[in-house]
Amino acid sequence: MTRQLDDDGRLRHLLTIAGLPAALLTEILDTAESFLPETGPPVKKVPLLRGATVVNLFFEASTRTRTTFELAAKRLSADVLNMQVEHSSKTKGEHDLDTLFTLQAMGADVFVVRHPDNGAAAGFAEQVAPGVAVLNAGDGSHAHPTQALLDMLTIRRHKPDFSGLTVAIVGDVRHSRVAHSDIDALHALGAREIRVIAPPPLMPAEPGNLGVRTHDRLAEGLAGVDVVIALRIQHERMQRTLDITPEDYRRDFGLTAENLQALPADALIMHPGPINRGVEIDADIAYGPRSVILEQVRNGIAVRMAVMAMIAGGRHRV
Ligand code: ASP
Repeated sequence: MTRQLDDDGRLRHLLTIAGLPAALLTEILDTAESFLPETGPPVKKVPLLRGATVVNLFFEASTRTRTTFELAAKRLSADVLNMQVEHSSKTKGEHDLDTLFTLQAMGADVFVVRHPDNGAAAGFAEQVAPGVAVLNAGDGSHAHPTQALLDMLTIRRHKPDFSGLTVAIVGDVRHSRVAHSDIDALHALGAREIRVIAPPPLMPAEPGNLGVRTHDRLAEGLAGVDVVIALRIQHERMQRTLDITPEDYRRDFGLTAENLQALPADALIMHPGPINRGVEIDADIAYGPRSVILEQVRNGIAVRMAVMAMIAGGRHRV
């Protein structure tokens, strides 16, 4: 397994939440707080990454992750290159590693990698030169560590005591790298209970190994929760077509006004985006008073600044 920490326990790469010490996760969240508009520096832009080059290397579509990594790097004064690989020489047959080595030759210091294959970011981390960092921006259904960190920051700002938290994740947990990283982070930070609410084809293959309780009825799973995280159905990662219509899914698992009657009044409603309105969540819920979905987006900038700043603060080249 690729090491994420250096010999001094500092962040070297960020590939997965699994195995990271709780103290390091807390340090990332605390650093992120220091970059938030209300608690952060009076000017948005700080010189921590001046002279460094951050390459966003995306082999899969992205809206929030790519743009907030770009903004985060720019607010740290880095130079930023955005590579959307379907527009690159991959279409001429270039191997992913040759793309990586080419960009490294241009002086990249940090690669932010999104890829459809599980483990791709770790594979890149094995190949980069010493001192070059790889940040996983989502690999297949495996992990999305910065999303989990921004989710934890969003939760912590409203409900600081993780030991009292019950969190329900609703929907396509089986194919969701966000869910896998959220579950790792919630366990590491000591959440009291993690529930997964899904129909059988979207349940994780071995929920027992994830340390979660499973429910196949929304009302029952939502009783008493502090946070509910809805997920998009990830058709692109399925081997077979899902045998549930969007209408049936919305009726049984959608976050709709009717289905949320069982949700406690002070619960937070979250979603990593992109949302499919009228399927896993209705628009009035996504933009309603209990939703923190846009806070998640905003907190993503601070979390990504924190991760890059902490890597720069290590003894690496950046
Ligand atoms: N944006 C998240 C991801 O890249 C969630 C999703 O695509 O549904 O995993």
